[in-house]
Amino acid sequence: MDKDRKKLLEINQLQKYFKVDRKSVLKAVDGITFDIYQGETFGLVGESGCGKSTVGRTIMRFYETSGGEVKFHSENVHAKKSKKELKKFHRSMQMIFQDPYASLNPRMTIKDIIAEGLDIHGLAKNKSERLARVNELLETVGLNSEHGNRYPHEFSGGQRQRIGIARALAVDPEFIVADEPISALDVSIQAQVVNLLKKLQDERGLTYLFIAHDLSMVKHISDRVGVMYLGRMAEIAPSDELYEKPLHPYTQALLSAIPIVDPKVERTRERILIEGDIPSPIDPPSGCRFRTRCPLAMEVCSDIEPKFQEYKKNHWVACHLYDEDYKE
Ligand code: SF4
Repeated sequence: MDKDRKKLLEINQLQKYFKVDRKSVLKAVDGITFDIYQGETFGLVGESGCGKSTVGRTIMRFYETSGGEVKFHSENVHAKKSKKELKKFHRSMQMIFQDPYASLNPRMTIKDIIAEGLDIHGLAKNKSERLARVNELLETVGLNSEHGNRYPHEFSGGQRQRIGIARALAVDPEFIVADEPISALDVSIQAQVVNLLKKLQDERGLTYLFIAHDLSMVKHISDRVGVMYLGRMAEIAPSDELYEKPLHPYTQALLSAIPIVDPKVERTRERILIEGDIPSPIDPPSGCRFRTRCPLAMEVCSDIEPKFQEYKKNHWVACHLYDEDYKE
């Protein structure tokens, strides 16, 4: 990424642990480092349980950290803040959820759901300004003013996600964490929501952290992509580079699982199967966490954890295959 671009978020050795019982700790996020630049979309990908949603929620300060830090505009997000500072912070960052239905209060009209942020932050001087703002937001996301008087159950999944987006936009945020925003939608609707998010980014200069479990979903929206495995970052690269020249065996396997539209290419290409399930983050494997499922694992992989290093310009990977000391 261009050095001149401004870092909006700096995530440095972030850890988030959850105590399971007296003896065990679940290390959902275990020391990950990456930056998000102003105006970009950073896609964060990995199987369920890899810790990607926990990263999003910790950045949003829904969770406190267990270690490391998150900086937003160079300020530590988790440092003690006054009520006024917290309010300002919550206005700058918003979240879009995977299940828009669960995140919309069924007893509230769409109008009131969208206006919640306006009310909390005192962004509308009076009722008519509030209504005008809500109608404008509905229009921005492809709905209309008449929809404002209805309730969440009256909408389809795609429309509900649009309502979730309008609610997030109401406070005019700079940064949005989109946590699997299209995973629950029909394939035909997914592209519409992705296009809407892209359009809003262009118009408003928004920065996104786009979380997904499937690399095909983040391809079209992300400038850069980070691949997580069992609480750690396996690889980060600009989107095109990651898709064309993935380095980490886990990324290669995830990519090989995406069906290709051209039947000729689909027939001839090699699939890399990842065997077994993701191990428990309570008791992760020694050395490289991917070694129990890696088709290229070497002896060193069970003893020494690979360093996360910049192997090529802007292309980071954690794998001994790219480590001068260990590659065979
Ligand atoms: Fe596979 Fe070893 Fe690389 Fe881990 S470090 S991904 S086990 S080759």
